[in-house]
Amino acid sequence: MINLEAPKKFRPLVGQAHQVAMNLLRPNSRKYDLLEHEYPKELDMLAAMIDGLSESGAASGAGASGVRRSEDDPAKKDDGGVKNGANLASVLSIMEMCWGDVGLLLSMPRQGLGNSAIASVANDEQHERFDGVWASMAITEPGTGSDSANIQTTAKLDGDHYVLNGEKIFVTAGDRSDAVVVWATLDKSQGRAAIKSFVVPKGTPGMNVERLEHKLGIRASDTATIRFENCRVPKENLLGSPEIDTKQGFAGAMATFDNTRPLVAAMAVGCARAALELTKELLENAGVVIDYDRPAFTQAAAAATFLQLEADWEAAYLLTLQAAWMADNRKPNSLEASMAKAKAGRSGSDITLRCVELAGSIGYSEHDLLEKWARDSKILDIFEGTQQIQQLIVARRLLGKTSAELK
Ligand SMILES: Cc1cc2nc3c(=O)[nH]c(=O)nc-3n(C[C@H](O)[C@H](O)[C@H](O)COP(=O)(O)OP(=O)(O)OC[C@H]3O[C@@H](n4cnc5c(N)ncnc54)[C@H](O)[C@@H]3O)c2cc1C
Repeated sequence: MINLEAPKKFRPLVGQAHQVAMNLLRPNSRKYDLLEHEYPKELDMLAAMIDGLSESGAASGAGASGVRRSEDDPAKKDDGGVKNGANLASVLSIMEMCWGDVGLLLSMPRQGLGNSAIASVANDEQHERFDGVWASMAITEPGTGSDSANIQTTAKLDGDHYVLNGEKIFVTAGDRSDAVVVWATLDKSQGRAAIKSFVVPKGTPGMNVERLEHKLGIRASDTATIRFENCRVPKENLLGSPEIDTKQGFAGAMATFDNTRPLVAAMAVGCARAALELTKELLENAGVVIDYDRPAFTQAAAAATFLQLEADWEAAYLLTLQAAWMADNRKPNSLEASMAKAKAGRSGSDITLRCVELAGSIGYSEHDLLEKWARDSKILDIFEGTQQIQQLIVARRLLGKTSAELK
């Protein structure tokens, strides 16, 4: 029988994450929405606490830092049993934290999406060397968004270094992080197989943060434009294999997304739950009765809408857990990771906006956080692959088509 409850062993972790979300993130949510670009210094204390837990081994998956996919990961050792490992722990704790605030979660030191890339593809030596580094992820360029195979930033080998040239835009935590995982091509003529990722530590000469974006939502999170001009990085900072394997194509680089998409889905699920909880309270205070024992169509319109939104939320939640659980159990999860991201990204936006609608003027005003959650959730349907791109991936996988056959 499938058990749809979160595993018992993660309850303490979920409880801790919820406490942090309630006592630290929520109370600072509006403050850093208004103080865009100001560093949320309250997070330093939290980061120190997570570091402490990590050292004691008690914080598996405490934030967005991602998880290791190597054969060495004890959580992945195949002893025939079912694993509830670090992937599941990560998505569960991220859901709680984003119930608190998505922008603040994205600003947590050492929990960047670049950390997931390192966790996914770094070798053992790199994993050790970059342990504790806060890494952001730089894929997008002025001429390259969804089509990440079109990356123009170049990396040329020169002695013991790669020399990087190009511009990266919309890098989450690009200003605050300690290092940026930069996607660049070793040889444009060899297509997508030549795209590799490089860890570029902050302060490396030739790497400059040019500006920060003003945004609709997640304003607590910095979003940077970074230029690389003859930026030399040690060749040991290339993540994964330097070989250009045209047979493997883009698969190596794209494998990172199988880890990060469930994390972004979890962000959407957490933010949407916050909106649903507050809306339910507001509806009940207004005398709307939501009856779980009667069909929705027999109830008041507001109650019926709410039930529909909750059902949508549940589907997103379960798909997200499934994608993470599959990764823990070493099952290929590209299809499920995209399904989870597509469902949670879209539902997150729909739910938070419909909650604004249900709450009327209270929803729209800054008195509560409903309007903010509607703004914050939109990005979760855009970055790490937009809604349309996830649907394309799902369609390709279900129909057995290649990216050339279905564009
Ligand atoms: C706040 C914020 C933070 C971000 N953080 C990061 C980060 O940390 N690192 C990073 O590398 N990037 C980041 N991004 C960039 C983000 O990943 C891209 O915006 C996203 O991949 C979409 O690319 P694009 O904006 O160039 O849109 P485009 O790719 O130009 O797409 C525009 C529209 O066309 C649709 N579309 C494109 N191709 C197809 C197709 N084949 N079929 C159907 N529809 C299609 C898209 O879904 C979208 O709706 C961030 C963006 C924002 C706004």
